Amino acid sequence: MIAPGGTLGILGGGQLGRMLALAAAPLGYRCHVFSPEPGGPAAQVAAAETVAPYDDEAALDAFGRAVDVITVEFENVPAAALERLGQRLPVRPGPRSLRVAQNRIVEKDFVRALGLETTPYAAVEDEAGAAAADAEIGRPALLKTQTLGYDGKGQVLLDGDDDLIGAWQGTLGGRPAILEAFAPIEREVSVVAARTPDGTVASFDAVENRHVGGILDVTLAPAAIPPALAAAAREGAAQVARALDHVGVLCVELFVTRDGRLLVNEIAPRVHNSGHWTIEGCETSQFAQHVRAVCGLPLGSTARRASAVMKNLIGADVERWPALAADPAAHLHLYGKAETRAGRKMGHVTWLGPLDAPPPPVPDWPPAPR
Ligand code: AMP
Repeated sequence: MIAPGGTLGILGGGQLGRMLALAAAPLGYRCHVFSPEPGGPAAQVAAAETVAPYDDEAALDAFGRAVDVITVEFENVPAAALERLGQRLPVRPGPRSLRVAQNRIVEKDFVRALGLETTPYAAVEDEAGAAAADAEIGRPALLKTQTLGYDGKGQVLLDGDDDLIGAWQGTLGGRPAILEAFAPIEREVSVVAARTPDGTVASFDAVENRHVGGILDVTLAPAAIPPALAAAAREGAAQVARALDHVGVLCVELFVTRDGRLLVNEIAPRVHNSGHWTIEGCETSQFAQHVRAVCGLPLGSTARRASAVMKNLIGADVERWPALAADPAAHLHLYGKAETRAGRKMGHVTWLGPLDAPPPPVPDWPPAPR
């Protein structure tokens, strides 16, 4: 157990680290952020910052001496950095969670071995494998990189007689890829769950996620799906957390198919954008829950206090902040990013509704400023 007063080391300096640090403070913890870039969203609200690349061994060692437990705010932290830190102090979640989530093939093999369903998939690593995968999966299909893809980046939709090998060599640069059957999606849902070092698991209600251009746009809590399906999604996330021996929060993203099945799409071994609504919508936020889990405290209640809708502020959306700040019902979160770029997550806003009612609609979205 890391008692309050201790220091949480966070690898990664973005908005997830920022919201973790903000949630650690009421519990009496300090946060020390390690990031290759100075002055980012997390460092702005943290007690200390180390600016160094993830392969700087001297910087990692000094960081390890300055903190009591290490966590991550993104899954692509190099494994070598975690292994080095793990020799000195607890790294939560452990390397297994990250290794599984870093590669789409490893991830889907892992999920299937648990008896959970995924869309059919096959690896594409050479021309012969590409032809075999094409014959097995058919069309339409999505070709994705096995590693380092996020927000729909590194993906190609293949339909009709589109050239698979051309797309693989051209758009994906011949990198190891996965070919996935295009799933008949009715809606997309996710479950955020937490697990403590002694194996206690708690999950939040399943939520519905709507994407625009591959990026999460809106999360609706709770998801309007049959209770049995919601319960199965929560149990699936708990199963994943247990099987990974995960410590901390993770998120499992799933598709609900038109014929009512659940397909696991992705595991994020960390706090997740689709859990931001919990800050105002639940007794314990996903961020406070993660701090509790990695410090070995008892988990908080995941009970919902309200229904909620969360809207991401992507790129120029953030320029609407004056209207959002003037809306007394809007819970506005701005991430302190210096530069607004297209597709960049600049903030989010949550509106609450009555507990037993469906999530409120996003209020009339003010016209974009000229
Ligand atoms: P991902 O990067 O895997 O999270 O994919 C980004 C988005 O693309 C998902 O949220 C879905 O909307 C869509 N998508 C991904 N994989 C599939 C699939 N196999 N079939 C249909 N849509 C998909």
